[in-house]
Amino acid sequence: MKKKFDTLGFDASMIKNLSDLGYAYMTPIQEACLPLALEGRDVVAKAKTGSGKTAAFGIPLLLRLHVRNMRVQSLVLCPTRELAEQVANELRKLARFKHNIKILTLCGGVPCRAQRFSLEHGAHIVVGTPGRILQHLSEKSLFLDSVETLVLDEADRMLDMGFFEDIEKIIAQMPKKRQTLLFSATFPQEIKSICEQVQNDALHVSVEEIESENKIEQIFYEVEREEKRQALSAFLLSYRPKSAIIFCRTKLQVSELSDDLYQEGFDAMGLHGDLEQLDRDESLLQFANGSIGMLVATDLASRGLDIKDVECVINYDLPQSVEIYIHRIGRTARMGKEGLAVTFYEPFQKPFLQELNEANMLFTCKKFSEIVVENTEPYLAQMVTLCIDAGKKMKMRAGDILGTLTKDVGLDASCIGKIYIAEKYSYVAIGRDFVDKAFDALNSTKIKGRNFRVWKLQ
Ligand code: ADP
Ligand code: MG
Repeated sequence: MKKKFDTLGFDASMIKNLSDLGYAYMTPIQEACLPLALEGRDVVAKAKTGSGKTAAFGIPLLLRLHVRNMRVQSLVLCPTRELAEQVANELRKLARFKHNIKILTLCGGVPCRAQRFSLEHGAHIVVGTPGRILQHLSEKSLFLDSVETLVLDEADRMLDMGFFEDIEKIIAQMPKKRQTLLFSATFPQEIKSICEQVQNDALHVSVEEIESENKIEQIFYEVEREEKRQALSAFLLSYRPKSAIIFCRTKLQVSELSDDLYQEGFDAMGLHGDLEQLDRDESLLQFANGSIGMLVATDLASRGLDIKDVECVINYDLPQSVEIYIHRIGRTARMGKEGLAVTFYEPFQKPFLQELNEANMLFTCKKFSEIVVENTEPYLAQMVTLCIDAGKKMKMRAGDILGTLTKDVGLDASCIGKIYIAEKYSYVAIGRDFVDKAFDALNSTKIKGRNFRVWKLQ
């Protein structure tokens, strides 16, 4: 099944180096991506962390290099300094098949001056974060007019961190005729439009779906109608999933159940078509950044949403078809993680299990009386979202907020979660234990030299 690297027609020196590195077989993303990238095609690849992306783009760009030409021929953009360092280290290992390939990392946290000095000595490949690359471009210490291959690694994370405008500016300084390889673990609409904007007739490869198929644990509980509500609470208190989507059949049931769970002390929010757009957007944002643990929704309301990485899907009401069931539970176990799908059914609904059996679904039936609840205290999400009264229109950027929170407010970066900049507002997730400090401080601290109104969501 697995393919060896020597099926790709590489020179002996490349094969020898790969085997020295212990790379005997291609990983699935390498197998899918390498033949296309080696042909010079643009590729969009859906791949998670640890799948071997670096070699998937690294080998083609290394083979393309003209070592005697000291101009920058490849640029790899990464979301963080740590990832850029990792990529550069991995590329340096892959580059051992040839002498004198120079790979430079350009990230923040190091004085620009030292980097300028290295740039003067020339580099074939630059790996860096968008902010610092842009800075070198504007200082004319870096030129990208000879770039032949551009790699956007972990593009969804770069987008989450608000780097998109920087990336656009960087790309504007590169030749139009180039190869662009884009890697992302998820594919929200924004990533799709970026691909259209920066790539040319790109080919799509994805290896994630196949891998995650069997990782969803499916549990069924038979309950009488009047026990169902109690069974749900018992399940939540026992398993305590950090994130769960709870499916109901109607809008009315969605609002009743979400209110009820909220009253009980859980971080639950309802999602249905009658809500104002802003409320919907804010609920989804809070769910995605870990400030709301439970989203109660109808199938219709959840359709087309890119809600990723959900720990648990709960079918509070049975789906109307096997197809909808598969669609619902597919929201968990993304990105190679394990997922859990729990379904409550009433005795008269048993034939549905037979249908699932015929569709080759593997599930376990348990009794709700077997659920052991040790801790009866409802739990809250780990983060809280602060909303700041300034967004894209005010030129607010994720880095401005991150900078203010770490440097001026003195918060550790580890308690700051996702930052999202919308048109008029910005949203930042803060660890629950630190949110009061952040809230008080932001109300009296200037961001970009101005005071903005800040409030807690929910
Ligand atoms: P990603 O960027 O997708 O997170 P990396 O490119 O950093 O993943 O690779 C993850 C790890 O797997 C690295 O330690 C790398 O050396 C190793 N690796 C990559 N490709 C192979 C392969 N074909 N065989 C064995 N190990 C590999
Ligand atoms: Mg990587």
